[in-house]
Amino acid sequence: MPENKSPLERLGLDTPAALALHLPIRYEDETELTSVEEAISGFGNANVQTQGKVILCEVKFRPRRQLIVVIADQDAELVLRFLNFYPSQQKQMAIGNFLRVRGEVKQGFMGPEMVHPTVKQVLPETPLPQQLTPVYSTIAGIGQITVRKGIEKGLKDPSVRKFLREIIPLGSITDPRYSFLKDLPSLEESIFSLHYPTVQTNKDALLERTHPAWRRIQFEELLAQQISLQRAHIERQKRKAPCMNQSPGGFVQRLFDLLPFTLTDAQKKVWGEIANDLAKPYPMNRLLQGDVGSGKTAVAALAAAHAIDHGYQVALMAPTEILAEQHFRKFEPWFLELGVEMVWLTGSLKSKEKKLAQEKIKTGQAQLAIGTHALIQEGVEFAQLGLAIIDEQHRFGVRQRLQFHGRQGSEDIFSHQLMMSATPIPRTLAMTYYADLEVSVIDELPPGRKPILTKLFKDSRRDEVILGIRKELTLGRQAYWVCPLIEESEVLQLQTVTDTFESLKAKLTEYRIAMMHGRMSSEEKSSIMADFKSGSIQLLVSTTVIEVGVDVPNASLMIIEHSERFGYSQIHQLRGRVGRGEADSVCILLYSEHLSFAAKERLKVLRENSDGFIIAEHDLSLRGPGELLGSRQSGESMLRFVDLQRDAWLVSLVKDFAHDILATAPELAELHLRRWLGSRADYLKA
Ligand code: ADP
Ligand code: MG
Repeated sequence: MPENKSPLERLGLDTPAALALHLPIRYEDETELTSVEEAISGFGNANVQTQGKVILCEVKFRPRRQLIVVIADQDAELVLRFLNFYPSQQKQMAIGNFLRVRGEVKQGFMGPEMVHPTVKQVLPETPLPQQLTPVYSTIAGIGQITVRKGIEKGLKDPSVRKFLREIIPLGSITDPRYSFLKDLPSLEESIFSLHYPTVQTNKDALLERTHPAWRRIQFEELLAQQISLQRAHIERQKRKAPCMNQSPGGFVQRLFDLLPFTLTDAQKKVWGEIANDLAKPYPMNRLLQGDVGSGKTAVAALAAAHAIDHGYQVALMAPTEILAEQHFRKFEPWFLELGVEMVWLTGSLKSKEKKLAQEKIKTGQAQLAIGTHALIQEGVEFAQLGLAIIDEQHRFGVRQRLQFHGRQGSEDIFSHQLMMSATPIPRTLAMTYYADLEVSVIDELPPGRKPILTKLFKDSRRDEVILGIRKELTLGRQAYWVCPLIEESEVLQLQTVTDTFESLKAKLTEYRIAMMHGRMSSEEKSSIMADFKSGSIQLLVSTTVIEVGVDVPNASLMIIEHSERFGYSQIHQLRGRVGRGEADSVCILLYSEHLSFAAKERLKVLRENSDGFIIAEHDLSLRGPGELLGSRQSGESMLRFVDLQRDAWLVSLVKDFAHDILATAPELAELHLRRWLGSRADYLKA
């Protein structure tokens, strides 16, 4: 515990790297001094620094206990007021001491004063610093001065200089594409000038992190990341995977004939890309992106059929049971027709059924296994897994996705991986986090899709909305009512669904209404979904359990209550449940009276845009990459100094640079990586 740890160790600054890279969050300018008189006459301005002798130091009660100190130079006096203070401060500011203080002068009760200024005890002749003063992030109990002194001392250690040595000679770059890098300061120079910038340094550039010294650090960080990702890519290509380049049973053609539609051009294109990967002797690692409803499932089915045709097993994993079941239902008629044996495996199966499914997977009798993450849990062993398909991949953590890699029948054969996502990943993000991922995009919706009209309604217009539902149901169509998200409490959430359900039932007595929520058993949920699909339920009141993948073409109206509580992608995914059939579809976003500015903006963006990519860009700028990629990744986010929005251009430059370095000087790339990532390098293999 803290007893035997130094303050720097407690801050986690126990290596030269951590220490050097604990860069200031801002700076204070203590290089200038004004007289007390000037400080007072300019009051209301930003921070000033002045100094004088203490002529009064008293604890007063008016009405609260406070410490009043007055300092003076030859011309004027200034009041310092402290509402919280320690005895040590009283000592420091005892009458007769000389103080240098820094703060904002305001007009107070007793005239011009500084409330809680920064105070330093000095001598009148103590020189002013020549550099801006760094302000570091710290934790309770460790003051700025301690951190500052610790870092100053630490940076003098020879191990820091060694850590900061130049590895890649940027100065000798000749390629004009990288001329920007050539002019950057060295790493050592950058680190020192960020800790101790001279007064002349452009302060805005420092704070906005666009200063060349920052650029150098950002370059280093990105380079390590790109090298790591690209190396993972090279490693992957050295692995063995089943080469699927034939069509023994003509499964793919037969499935084409079974599909009730012809593929869109976009679907054909991505199927071509996938088939091409599957024919390679190394494992595919491909992300299939397509907006909600773009038809990813059919493409996944083709890939599955192709792998099974070659005698391999296929696993299809979805993040929720509802979603997995939808896949199962869709796949079942097609694969039964092909004579493929399917198994269903989720956590909620009875242990006997689970054992049976696991057994079939182990013996290879099951050719297609569909389920939730139960598919990658202990006890599941595939005889010969050739392809793993992971739907809504961002919902799974990196580790969970990894487990499929490790679970092969034969040790040195890896399965191909196809991930699917309706949450588009903006280009910059794809380049930085997913450099070892090929991306296919379905950029076209099946024909006949009607755009969804999104409308914003104040909550007070609920009755109008209910009239709208009535109209839609009377026309024989169906509707969803999505209840507000209450993240803090599942109980409250349940309560809300129940209340809403009861009140809608009372108002729409002649219609068949059902309720669905996360507390129900999966049997209950799937029986409700089946009834909704068949049309025997007309209005489905539910929580966000219907968020992804649910497919009922006859549903043409969705109401999202308290839509301001949802994020961009949640609403976009939710509303994608409608607009899948013949009818014009509408999504109504109900919102409460008092909207924050951000929420208003968000709802406006959603109303005006139906393109998932545009929405994802907004999402990225709002929440940052961590959340977009899923919470598991966010904690381990690699980029501390790079901002993907601000530095997008740097990302593409460094991507190319990393590629070149790996090709021309792999040993330098390795050194750089080791310096920058240390033990975290492994993580990136994901
Ligand atoms: P998502 O990409 O959201 O997973 P799905 O694969 O569930 O989308 O497809 C959405 C709906 O579109 C399904 O009802 C599916 O049968 C239908 N669909 C898919 N591809 C086509 C196509 N090429 N032509 C017509 N309908 C299609
Ligand atoms: Mg889907």
